[in-house]
Amino acid sequence: MAGKKVLIVYAHQEPKSFNGSLLKIAVEELTKQGCSVTVSDLYAMQFEPRATRNDIVGRLHNSEAFNYGVETWEAYKRGGLSRDLVEEQKKVQEADLLIFQFPLFWFSMPAILKGWMDRVLVQGFAYDLSKCYDGGLLQDKLSLFSFTTGGTKEKYASRGDVRYLLWPMQHGIMHFCGVKVLEPHICYAPENVSEEKRKEMLTGWTQRLKTLWKEEPINCSPEWYFK
Ligand code: FAD
Ligand code: ZN
Repeated sequence: MAGKKVLIVYAHQEPKSFNGSLLKIAVEELTKQGCSVTVSDLYAMQFEPRATRNDIVGRLHNSEAFNYGVETWEAYKRGGLSRDLVEEQKKVQEADLLIFQFPLFWFSMPAILKGWMDRVLVQGFAYDLSKCYDGGLLQDKLSLFSFTTGGTKEKYASRGDVRYLLWPMQHGIMHFCGVKVLEPHICYAPENVSEEKRKEMLTGWTQRLKTLWKEEPINCSPEWYFK
């Protein structure tokens, strides 16, 4: 939808990868719609995934015993977070929609993307003491997890629901911060399907993006995941 701002947080090393193609499609299609699209290409940025003392500029709140959660919260309040974090937070703040594009690693997101979650979504910015879930601080934003797998759709269907692994990402992170969640977009086993099927999956993503702004968020409750 024209005028909407989209942040795509992308975690793949290779632009020629299937994830790279999915990213390219999203940038092209959303730009065509008149959206303003920003990409955080985490590997290209050499994004630091480690949550350390370096994220705080200047003095520590308690230099006797380091507590990352407390220190980043205090640093956020006094404007003392490191520059890379401030930049990512600004992108998040401005966005109407956050798209996370990545290959599934160990039933989860790659470490570099998990590090982005750990470091960017700090207390005071994304949530606060009693401000979480529907009261989280990142209200009026949408999120979408778009990922690829090594396992085939059939394997995932026979060995348990892929939705289980979305619980920590969608509910534990996005919903916790007040962000609404759209249906995930999963491309199964791009390495192992035919070229024709790969093209079909890429077309499917383009098609979905065309009507994305008409979608309703999912009901992000245990029933959606563990029915
Ligand atoms: P690629 O290998 O880049 O792409 C697949 C094929 O698509 C390639 O041949 C590429 O050339 C082709 N392609 C790219 N663009 C186009 C285009 N425009 N048109 C046509 N073809 C194109 N999988 C699981 O299911 N569960 C796990 O828990 C899991 N854990 C993992 C942990 C680790 C550490 C690693 C490294 C992998 C893991 N995997 C797991 C597998 C991983 O999820 C897949 O390898 C990955 O999702 C594949 O996506 P890709 O973008 O890297 O594919
Ligand atoms: Zn939820």
